[in-house]
Amino acid sequence: MVDYIVIGAGFAGIVMAERIANVLGQEVMIIEKRNHIGGNCYDYHDENGVLIHKYGPHIFHTDLEEVWQYLSHFTEWNNYQHKVLGYIDGIKVPIPFNLNSLHQSLPDKLAENLETKLIQTFGYNVKIPILELKETDDAELTSLAEFIYEKVFLNYTKKQWGMEPEDLDPSVTARVPVYISRDDRYFQNKYQGLPKKGYTEMFENMLSSDNIQVKLGTDFREVVQHDGDKFIIFDKEFEGKLIYTGKIDELFNYQYGKLPYRSLDFEFENLNQEYYQEVGTVNYPNDYDFTRITEFKHLTGQKIESTTIAREYPQEYVKETNIPYYPIPKPENRDLYQEYLAKSIQLKNLILLGRLAEYQYYNMDEIVAAGLKIFEERIK
Ligand code: FAD
Ligand code: UDP
Repeated sequence: MVDYIVIGAGFAGIVMAERIANVLGQEVMIIEKRNHIGGNCYDYHDENGVLIHKYGPHIFHTDLEEVWQYLSHFTEWNNYQHKVLGYIDGIKVPIPFNLNSLHQSLPDKLAENLETKLIQTFGYNVKIPILELKETDDAELTSLAEFIYEKVFLNYTKKQWGMEPEDLDPSVTARVPVYISRDDRYFQNKYQGLPKKGYTEMFENMLSSDNIQVKLGTDFREVVQHDGDKFIIFDKEFEGKLIYTGKIDELFNYQYGKLPYRSLDFEFENLNQEYYQEVGTVNYPNDYDFTRITEFKHLTGQKIESTTIAREYPQEYVKETNIPYYPIPKPENRDLYQEYLAKSIQLKNLILLGRLAEYQYYNMDEIVAAGLKIFEERIK
């Protein structure tokens, strides 16, 4: 029996296995129910040879030097800076909505006045969440906020979450603030890019140690049980540490009820043309049933004759039917999570990490940072 078991071969599980194997020199087994590593960051070449992200577009971006340096041991990076346009009233304007978007969507004089007022009120190069901009007491800025809210946020959020922006934790829409700037990039982080040969290759490098065994196609519930404060794994009492990155409600057999998630359906299409759209992603807040279209060649920089795009159709998450992509950040869901968390403390040697186990709307860099910290503080 190994010293460490990791449930889930997503980003979280892979960072933990890599550290345990390479720093501690200990043996670790990863149990993963899908037939591939990488979790939702998995990428592969489709039947037309285009490198695509099976579970939606993933752009790595961070200000955390330590995280960037750590991953750079396992991959080189391309030079990609993500750009997004929003299809609004028949034209495509930069998202996050910025001063360029303002000038493209409103008449010149009005846009000029609003630009001056925004800069005077908030300053230049400042990001303001839409729900805060809506609260300003200046009538002109309030009507601008209403315009942006209606055109960019309201219908996109209804499609994505089945809810209005006010019904979610404000941090959700604050991910894409109104930006008083002419910088058209989606992210302004110091480090940004995609692994040069793809995420999957980076993960393979991270898992290359002989100390790591990966058991694919295995649901942990087939081999892991818990009894009181102990884990029974492969029918034996497990004395080592178990790092769990799956859904916390599933670990406890939904004892306190199901935690809600949001899912997506991806529609991929290969087109016999060099490019389909101007930038990596185009958002469609008000038109169609999908939220956005991503064209992977823009992200990866791959040079190939045809192109593959993905349309994202949000949907309700139904257990055992589709994938729980997003926790739904709302106070009552956090409260339910806290009940599971309190229960989890009874299991000695259990470590929870990741989007599902911590019920957090984490970006990739946050997962890596959390994994490195847990390794230092609770494992090493
Ligand atoms: P996961 O990737 O979900 O890994 C969990 C693993 O556990 C999975 O492989 C799963 O199969 C396995 N598992 C679950 N249950 C069981 C079970 N019962 N038995 C065995 N194995 C099990 N982040 C960014 O930084 N930039 C982006 O551009 C970005 N874009 C995104 C786009 C989309 C559409 C989505 C959904 C997410 C995006 N993210 C992005 C976030 C990123 O995907 C997550 O931060 C990251 O994948 C979380 O890693 P994880 O290991 O916690 O979870
Ligand atoms: N959002 C929106 N319109 C947009 C872009 C984002 O309303 O054009 C809101 C929406 O609620 C979305 C959230 O901002 O879920 C976060 O967007 P982000 O692009 O960060 O979502 P992710 O890439 O994580 O799906």
